[in-house]
Amino acid sequence: MHDGVEGPLRLRIEQVGAEVLHRPARAVATDELASADVQRLIDLMFATLAGTGVGLAAPQVGVGLQIVVIEDPPDFQAAVPPDLLRLQEREPVAPHVLINPILETVDPTPAEFFEGCLSVDGYRAIVPRARRVRVRGLDRDGQPVEREASGWYARILQHEVDHLAGRLYLERMLPRTFVSAASAAQTWTGLPIDEAKRRLGGRAAPAPRGRSSR
Ligand code: ZN
Repeated sequence: MHDGVEGPLRLRIEQVGAEVLHRPARAVATDELASADVQRLIDLMFATLAGTGVGLAAPQVGVGLQIVVIEDPPDFQAAVPPDLLRLQEREPVAPHVLINPILETVDPTPAEFFEGCLSVDGYRAIVPRARRVRVRGLDRDGQPVEREASGWYARILQHEVDHLAGRLYLERMLPRTFVSAASAAQTWTGLPIDEAKRRLGGRAAPAPRGRSSR
């Protein structure tokens, strides 16, 4: 909702190089989680995420605590070609928060797609991620939650839990596929992933059939 006078309050998103993004976050204690400060932080993280991304970790707003908020709304997916959504196994994810999450790989088969990060603004890269994971943590009331996720939601979970360990996708990506978000939108995300990898990897196109490759 927007009243035309001022937008919702958003937190500043730290960019790569801010130290808080490069060191592990600490676990949230139970009484701390119930505090007004942490509950307010969670609300502000959701407000900051809205309309800009699908996940946000507390270190990205300058707070070294193990808190992530995730939401992949249907209107984001309306902008993605249906074929790509299917390949990505991407479905809407309702807003939820995870406190002190622990991730476990269920199916390590690597899925390779372009991803980006609000803290590496303006860039994308192909990042291999496990296809299926299980996450255990607490909700905002301190109740235990456990979820299993495949495809794009599994990717979001891996990306966000990495933030809590002080890791950015930059150390997981295929380095030659690091591109500007503009070129990704214009060219790279529209191609089959193997073709994008080949062209960005500097490898020659396969020889046309029936002709000598020399
Ligand atoms: Zn990120």
